[in-house]
Amino acid sequence: MIDFHVHKPSEGGEGGRYDSRPYTAADYVAVMDELGIDVSVVFTLDGLWHPSPAENDRVAAWVAEAPDRLVAFGTVDPRLPDAAAETERCLGELGMRGLKFHPWIQAFCPHEACMDPIAEVAAAHGAPILFHDGTPPYSTPLQIAALARRHPDVPMVLGHGGLQDHWREAIAAVTGTPNLWICLCGTPNAGMRAVVARCPSQRLLFGTDAGLGAAVSQPFAAERIAEVEQLEIEEEVRAAMLDGNARALLRLEEQVG
Ligand SMILES: [Zn+2]
Repeated sequence: MIDFHVHKPSEGGEGGRYDSRPYTAADYVAVMDELGIDVSVVFTLDGLWHPSPAENDRVAAWVAEAPDRLVAFGTVDPRLPDAAAETERCLGELGMRGLKFHPWIQAFCPHEACMDPIAEVAAAHGAPILFHDGTPPYSTPLQIAALARRHPDVPMVLGHGGLQDHWREAIAAVTGTPNLWICLCGTPNAGMRAVVARCPSQRLLFGTDAGLGAAVSQPFAAERIAEVEQLEIEEEVRAAMLDGNARALLRLEEQVG
């Protein structure tokens, strides 16, 4: 199983979003073993509020402890003049496999022009861009789809499958945008069933959002896995969603080879 939505735990303290005691990558890999997760896509938590090259360095270093099990995504403040250069550093020098944005927290609209140079760097690297989605005003599926349509060479991902309020819009966005993937992560059960029934099966992904809590054990991640395992869908589609699609999007075989 590949978990496409995991946060590196907050550093806590000043500048940290949560008063947590950060756990190590090795500790988290042990939890992945318990949960049956082979690979996790890891992005920042603190850096959504305070994006910086230093935080990208911390995410890269955390993931480097278990490079065969953890894949890093970076983030930048898209309004800064060096945003494209830092994107290039993430995907080049730091070896990150994609980018994560949370436009609602990071305070920009997904289809603003400032995202274009970033998307062009992602296209050059064949790297996907994942967005938080499901919360207006800045994280609606169709806003993200608008950017995806301007950059048809860049795979973009709705990181939460529309959440409670936007899964219908998420389905419309994905079915109308060939380079838009959908990660079921916090999507309600009715929404998950509708997404799986209507979206192309090769563009379904799954994520837990692990890493939000202070403790390394992630009870809600286990619940989300149980939910998706109990979802009444074809096994072939479940296997694609839980493993094969993410492997292809991340080009994991190239990494191993
Ligand atoms: Zn998240």
